[in-house]
Amino acid sequence: MSLTDTAAGALLGLACGDSLGRPVEFQSSQQIAQKHGTVTEMLANGTHNQPAGTITDDTEMALCIARSLDEHRAVRPDDVAERFVAWYDSGPFDIGLMTSDALQKIKHDGSWRDAGQQVWESRPEGSNAGNGSVMRCAPYALAFRDDWDTLARVSRLSSSITHADPRCTYGCAVLNLTLAGVLAERETPLEDALAHVEADAPAELLAALRPIPDDTSLDSLRASGYVIHTLQAALYHGLTADTAEDAIVSAVNMGDDTDTVGAVTGAIAGVRFGASELPERWLAELACKNELATLGSTLATTEFAVDDDLIR
Ligand SMILES: [Mg+2]
Repeated sequence: MSLTDTAAGALLGLACGDSLGRPVEFQSSQQIAQKHGTVTEMLANGTHNQPAGTITDDTEMALCIARSLDEHRAVRPDDVAERFVAWYDSGPFDIGLMTSDALQKIKHDGSWRDAGQQVWESRPEGSNAGNGSVMRCAPYALAFRDDWDTLARVSRLSSSITHADPRCTYGCAVLNLTLAGVLAERETPLEDALAHVEADAPAELLAALRPIPDDTSLDSLRASGYVIHTLQAALYHGLTADTAEDAIVSAVNMGDDTDTVGAVTGAIAGVRFGASELPERWLAELACKNELATLGSTLATTEFAVDDDLIR
């Protein structure tokens, strides 16, 4: 597998999982089974009532990050926040609560550094650690795959624009370090990622992810919008399935937050197997297929500037 194929696979896999999951978002696994058997094809209508192959906030926000990196050849969280706000203003049909609150704040007082923190502090435990930043963070894993300290730092900062809970910020770091480890063909990418952040990451996150993939029972996994559930399910399916298609289909058919669990699983499976192993019949439905493939391979083969003041 070439680097350009695996890097393109990250973003295309993310989009495939997102759009395969979109029509059944919020349905339980039993409801999906009753209505569809197993979802294996891009469906039209369903939740959010969109055409087959429509991407949602997961891919849209990952595109904001990828386009910003590509245009500036630098990490620019201020510019990413601006792109998020422009996307918010376009009236997306799917947007998370924490993301919506944070982007409204940024829009009205312009401070991308504080908005996520303020939103986090205003929300009670149980609704303060959603999966809205892990779903979009993969582009940084491509851009900083060889510099783990910078990758962890940038991933955490980018999360904090909307999701400042340490489970979310370190969740992005662990996911992106795992993606970088898969790109580098490491034997134990998740273990290596956890070892890299274990001095500072929340104990709850470390304890939840350490048993994955080998000491996990499928029954213990949940596909909720809680960042830890999403990461457990996505890392399990992404790292253990025999094909990219199996990984994404298994994740989506868990039900619940299908598009986001599908997207995170798809990013992992995409780097493991490469864009060339994603089902052609799925890719054919994705309107932004060419842009995602080009951005993926560009991010993995370009040097990006990092301004320490900006990402402090
Ligand atoms: Mg979505």
